[in-house]
Amino acid sequence: MMISVAEALAKVLAGVKPLNAERISITEAFGRVLAEDVPSRITQPFADVSAMDGYAVRSDDVQTIPAAVTQIGESAAGSGFAGSIGPGEAVRIFTGAPVPEGADAIVIQEDTEADGNRITVTEAPVKGRYIRPAGLDFREGDALLTKGRRLTTRDVGLAAAMNVPWVSVIRQPQIALLSTGDELVLPGEPLGPDQIISSNSVGLSAFIRAIGGTPINLGIARDDPASLRAMLEGVRGADMLVTIGGASVGDYDLVKSVLGKEGLDITFSQVAMRPGKPLIFGTIHDRPMLGLPGNPVSAFVCSTLYLRPMVDVMLGAETPETAGAVTETALLGKDLTENDRRQDYLRATLSRNADGDFVATPFDKQDSSMLAVFAKADCLVVRPPHAPPVEAGARVPIIRLDPRV
Ligand code: AMP
Ligand code: MG
Repeated sequence: MMISVAEALAKVLAGVKPLNAERISITEAFGRVLAEDVPSRITQPFADVSAMDGYAVRSDDVQTIPAAVTQIGESAAGSGFAGSIGPGEAVRIFTGAPVPEGADAIVIQEDTEADGNRITVTEAPVKGRYIRPAGLDFREGDALLTKGRRLTTRDVGLAAAMNVPWVSVIRQPQIALLSTGDELVLPGEPLGPDQIISSNSVGLSAFIRAIGGTPINLGIARDDPASLRAMLEGVRGADMLVTIGGASVGDYDLVKSVLGKEGLDITFSQVAMRPGKPLIFGTIHDRPMLGLPGNPVSAFVCSTLYLRPMVDVMLGAETPETAGAVTETALLGKDLTENDRRQDYLRATLSRNADGDFVATPFDKQDSSMLAVFAKADCLVVRPPHAPPVEAGARVPIIRLDPRV
């Protein structure tokens, strides 16, 4: 039975759950998903500190300008002034240095003239100005980074500022990747007659890495039951199995029949979408199994729509990058005819018109084997089943293809 994209997405997401956590160094944590809240171990700044180079003063002393004060010491970043400031006194201070006791304002260097330790203030300071109060940024115990957050480079910097050297993150799912097909060889190998390159083995490995998983390449199974069964051994220990090809109804499409005998429990095997109709989802040896169609564009589109959100669930990501569910809109760049009963994902470029609006223009050729067009595409134009004809300029849903993925 052919199910809708929405049903398929709901079923695959229900079939995965968050993995356990591991501890890693904060220097390795970019892109990882936090398994628990991270409280700050320090208060930042640790004390009232100067935001400028100049002199720490008592503001009441220097309201009538020019005013003369006496420099009694220095406070530098990393070594503060030990004493306190009395009437008519000032301390030379630098950015990041603690404000000495008794001072309540900073006169910036540009507003002073120095003659030995005699400092003339030429501009009256405002009380509190140029002083960063203790805890301005954050305080000890503040949980600034929370469970489920995918750490950006800024977050990594923040965690470091919080004096956090390691974090607990969700383990990266290990995804066993098994290609199938008598015609396939790996890039660089000599090509026999009628053979093609198994581009998916390589491209989807990179995709898995990019979305936060660890690919385990099981290799290429031949289109015979014994070969497929033997290579399936590799799934043990992995969190999930992804097969490529052999998912359709041809004589050599063995994934359903062979894996079925090996314990694959199939949830669905056809989705009303184009590309990607022969998509299988099920469970094998207590693990989720996604059977991707072999055509490269179908395999990538299905990975974008289903595999990526599945990995997000396994990672416990708070803001899943579910390209399948989150759609934006753009203006259509050319007329389109009526759609049939399968939801269409048209490969398209994305540009801006004179008004600054995004315009999505589908390529003329949309064959699911065409990797060159797909690599050039910026987005997919989504056409629901039975969508009526639309003219250029109409607003249509799109899914952006992640330019870094
Ligand atoms: P299948 O689903 O096995 O019938 O494959 C559909 C099409 O995708 C066929 O033209 C296959 O040659 C091609 N194909 C299958 N697997 C791969 C792969 N790993 N890399 C590139 N093309 C593939
Ligand atoms: Mg095949």
